[in-house]
Amino acid sequence: MTTQKPPAAKKATAKKTTAKKGATRKAPAKGSAAKKSAAKKSTAKKTTTGTSAAAPSEPTAPKKSRSRKLARAPFEIAGHSVTAGRRMRMELPIGNLMSGTPVALPLIVVHGKKDGPVVWLSAAIHGDEIGGVEIIRQVLAALNAPSLAGTVIAAPVVNVHGFNTNDRYLPDRRDLNRSFPGSQRGSLASRIAYLFMKEIVSRADVGIDLHTGSDLRTNLPQLRCDIDRAPTLQLAQEFGAPIVIDASLRDGSLRQATVEAGKTMLLFEGGEASRFDPIAIAAGTTGVLRVLNHLGLTEIETPPAKRTLYSRSTSWSRASNSGIMHLDAMLGELVSAGQQLATIYDPFGKVLGRIKSKHDGIVIGHTQRPLVNRGDALSHVARLLNEVPTPDWDAHEITPAEEAILPT
Ligand SMILES: [Zn+2]
Repeated sequence: MTTQKPPAAKKATAKKTTAKKGATRKAPAKGSAAKKSAAKKSTAKKTTTGTSAAAPSEPTAPKKSRSRKLARAPFEIAGHSVTAGRRMRMELPIGNLMSGTPVALPLIVVHGKKDGPVVWLSAAIHGDEIGGVEIIRQVLAALNAPSLAGTVIAAPVVNVHGFNTNDRYLPDRRDLNRSFPGSQRGSLASRIAYLFMKEIVSRADVGIDLHTGSDLRTNLPQLRCDIDRAPTLQLAQEFGAPIVIDASLRDGSLRQATVEAGKTMLLFEGGEASRFDPIAIAAGTTGVLRVLNHLGLTEIETPPAKRTLYSRSTSWSRASNSGIMHLDAMLGELVSAGQQLATIYDPFGKVLGRIKSKHDGIVIGHTQRPLVNRGDALSHVARLLNEVPTPDWDAHEITPAEEAILPT
């Protein structure tokens, strides 16, 4: 059985884990050591000033200048400079349409007044997966640049061509999410991937990439990430999605390129393509806000997360016959091995096949198409882990970007 972990308890658990194991202290200690030494440095400076200030020759003048509030430096991106405490809309040129009309990747950068991590939010890398566009809209509406501690780069429409034509792919049928890290002189997908890495990923500490199901399939709101990387698992736990699935990296995906750059990325999936699924959008929006709260960027009230389940493996059950399919187990339903997931009929109601679950688990996705061919994927079931995984700080070396997001 997996157990509920309310957000407040999560931090405590994470800390407990690191405190319990002697060796596990290594990574966080590294972070805190760095922070401590930074703190020491500033104390040292203060002490020096203090000592010299105590000397009669140096009165309080330098202190005065120190007490003046130093504005946070502007955020430089793609030739734009965003002042601290402001948000700026900008367009990153991609090229032209065949008609000659310019095409650009639209961005909004919210640069907080206070220092903090840089987080990017991306959606519609698959052009028809528009759920994340709405999630980003809702998150941006909740952000207030003057009170933000950190920076948010929002890229709600990464695959501009696909978004405008309700297409998963680019016009040459390439999958943008198999084209990372891209190149300057490659295919259109490869060039967009390159631009995204150069202007966005390189400037960020963390990314959340938002997807939906594809191909007339719907997904239970879920995170896909590497749960064996402690900082990633910690963020996933903060997100509070109904289920977190440990997913291996796919060649050419934004997640693979991000991880190779030493950074953390959560991939959210929920709902279906070309539609707004209110449940998935709510789960995505609150999840993103919980992560921003956890990273210290915001203090926005969010509903407490319900129980998060964890999985390391999933399987699709396929149609045994061609015909008309009725689902017997719905999204989010817990099922046991052998339980009926779907029934296939002929047009007069004669049962042609009963599709059963291969194992115990939870339905995390299914087709929305009632007309099926033999072999079509019908229902996606995740096997559940018996225990809530705890971050293992010894499993990997902590990268500088990961260190930037460790809790203080
Ligand atoms: Zn997708």
